[in-house]
Amino acid sequence: MKNEKKDTVVIQAGGLGSRMRELTKDEIPKPMLCFNGKPVLQWQIENLAGYGFREFVIIIGHLGKKIQDYFEDGRRLGVHISYIQEEEPLGSAGALYFLKEMLLADRFLLIFGDVMFELDWNRMFAFHEKHQGKATLLVHPNNHPFDSDLLTMNESCQVTGLSPKNQARNGWHDNCVNAGIYILSKSVTEQMTAPQRMDLEKDVLTPLMKEQEVYGYRTPEYVRDIGTPERFWRAVSEQKSGLWKRKCLTQKQRCIFLDRDGTINKFRGLIHDAEDFELEELAGQAVKRINESGFLAVVVTNQPVVARGMCSIEEVDQIHRKMQTLLGQQGAYLDDIVFCPHHPDQGYPEEIPEYKISCKCRKPGTEMIERMAAKYHIDLSESYIIGDSTVDIQTGLNAGVKTVLTETGQAGRDGKYAVRPDYRASDLLQAVEQVLQDAESTKEAI
Ligand SMILES: [Mg+2]
Ligand SMILES: [Zn+2]
Repeated sequence: MKNEKKDTVVIQAGGLGSRMRELTKDEIPKPMLCFNGKPVLQWQIENLAGYGFREFVIIIGHLGKKIQDYFEDGRRLGVHISYIQEEEPLGSAGALYFLKEMLLADRFLLIFGDVMFELDWNRMFAFHEKHQGKATLLVHPNNHPFDSDLLTMNESCQVTGLSPKNQARNGWHDNCVNAGIYILSKSVTEQMTAPQRMDLEKDVLTPLMKEQEVYGYRTPEYVRDIGTPERFWRAVSEQKSGLWKRKCLTQKQRCIFLDRDGTINKFRGLIHDAEDFELEELAGQAVKRINESGFLAVVVTNQPVVARGMCSIEEVDQIHRKMQTLLGQQGAYLDDIVFCPHHPDQGYPEEIPEYKISCKCRKPGTEMIERMAAKYHIDLSESYIIGDSTVDIQTGLNAGVKTVLTETGQAGRDGKYAVRPDYRASDLLQAVEQVLQDAESTKEAI
């Protein structure tokens, strides 16, 4: 039995679910849709109960009586459930007003009724405690960032901007999606003076953001919005396949580390302008294949352009926003991106001295890989690196991961290290197929 938690879980189940009418037929609220044998809400509650949460409040509106009749006071699931009935729609946040008198702790967890997840909740709460903001949002990359609510975050994990899905967007964006899962301070409810229609993003989070009180907890774990029939059915099959459990950070993760230049994007020497970034033809498909496999997809790249003074960190970030946007258009995402901005040799005219150092992160150094392994609980002995140069292969040898060299980009002809990769592949897609085949055969051998 896990430690009991005092934090109340508030589930927003009051939405109309108009995009799900095809499944709900307007007879049941969408959180009551049957998902692999039981309602979506029941999956949510049971998962959280497994982490020690006992106190639940469900906000109900349209057809809410069906929810109340099914769950009653929660005893059957070993929890306690109260209800807030919206007489008229109060938007995504208006009903939080009623929580004032109901909360046992000084913070609460808010989740939306159309989100499915398998998360190590202890990690998210530890993050919230460390940063001490009034709000922590769970953020993650997904396979449809173009029609998701996106966030911008700074180096300190503070959320600095929100870009709602229904607002026109220009330019390049991080694939940093607001998942619909929040830890909020009780003070948020105390500032509400009357029950009235309120929007969580606009009326609650945006003012808190201006006070620098909003943080983003980024995780590669399984979190899916199931707000359209297509996404609903995909989540059903992903649960059956065991993908949810495999991606939970309580489990050891397997990762495919990816080189960037010449592997994901066309090799053009040192890229210092987003204009010059163009994906390799099969890169989107390849990364999508990784995403579906349950492996993490993490880019590890040397970007000495920073040390040489050819571009700033911000410009590298902009190139990475372009990479994520282009991949996102093809339904693919990266779980993380790390780069080494350093370069050891001094003597270039425009160089930036603070980055002109011998570091441990520059490949074939292994610090970037080790940092990611610690962050995401990665088992390196079951992980891989794919790249187009002997530097990538040497990095893999140094880090203890298996290696695949692609024929794209430099195609191993950089001549820096005399190394042999475990596998060779014509392009990134073939390399990923090779990895998945290898992983499958290793599993059988055990
Ligand atoms: Mg390369
Ligand atoms: Zn470095």
